[in-house]
Amino acid sequence: MPFIDDHAPISRSLDYEKRIEPMAATGGDRTQQLTVLDGVGEPAPPSSSPDAEWLTDPDGHRYLLLPADVTPHTAAQAALTTALGNKGSAYEAIGGTDYSSRSFDAVETRRIRLRQVANRWSYRFLPWMSRHGARFVTTPEGILLGLGLSWCGGVLTQRGGTIWGDVFLLNIDRCDDPAEALRTIVATGLVPRTPPSDGAGDDLTFTRRSLARLLHHEEIHAQQWADRGVVGFALAYLRDLVTRNETLEAAAGLGDGGYR
Ligand SMILES: [Zn+2]
Repeated sequence: MPFIDDHAPISRSLDYEKRIEPMAATGGDRTQQLTVLDGVGEPAPPSSSPDAEWLTDPDGHRYLLLPADVTPHTAAQAALTTALGNKGSAYEAIGGTDYSSRSFDAVETRRIRLRQVANRWSYRFLPWMSRHGARFVTTPEGILLGLGLSWCGGVLTQRGGTIWGDVFLLNIDRCDDPAEALRTIVATGLVPRTPPSDGAGDDLTFTRRSLARLLHHEEIHAQQWADRGVVGFALAYLRDLVTRNETLEAAAGLGDGGYR
């Protein structure tokens, strides 16, 4: 991985300005890059992230396990940094996917940044979700993957999981050790069975579906949230439910989402 120094302290890995430097070569505007996330909240001092931890999937792609006290702004920075640093995901190597691989050029980078700004409300929920037991990792797709809500999980996570803005919550609630469950999921690179039996996350079993495929699907949903706004997405979701059309799901990829 070009952007990660295994021996560097995590605070350096989360240093947005330093990490974002390589993007200048792709033609992006630096000033805009540094201000585009302003709506997400105040930057946190790096010292507040002592227990962030890089995780690696079976294909060598990196995920960052965010500290329990991560701030919305730092989480958004880390999500973008992870997407840019990986320059793709295991999705590219999987045959039979719904989409061809995407290139992480300046246009794609800008799309992710703008998506983050449009979905900034979802990052603001992180402290609340963290207080209720959830932990999160950044992903190569540039969205957050989390689990372990101890309260309201039954409402906020349906079926295999539910994405709210940029935050994808697996339907694994009330987890004794959500960080360890995330480590296991990333290391396996597979979609866990959800919802698992009680004791959730501590005794995970896995489907044969690729986690990278599911995250690719969820990232498209994140873009749908951004494009339509909260009300627009909710209306589209309800319309799909009533008409039994799966327009949102089909656009995100039915095969990638596990619908066929
Ligand atoms: Zn879906």
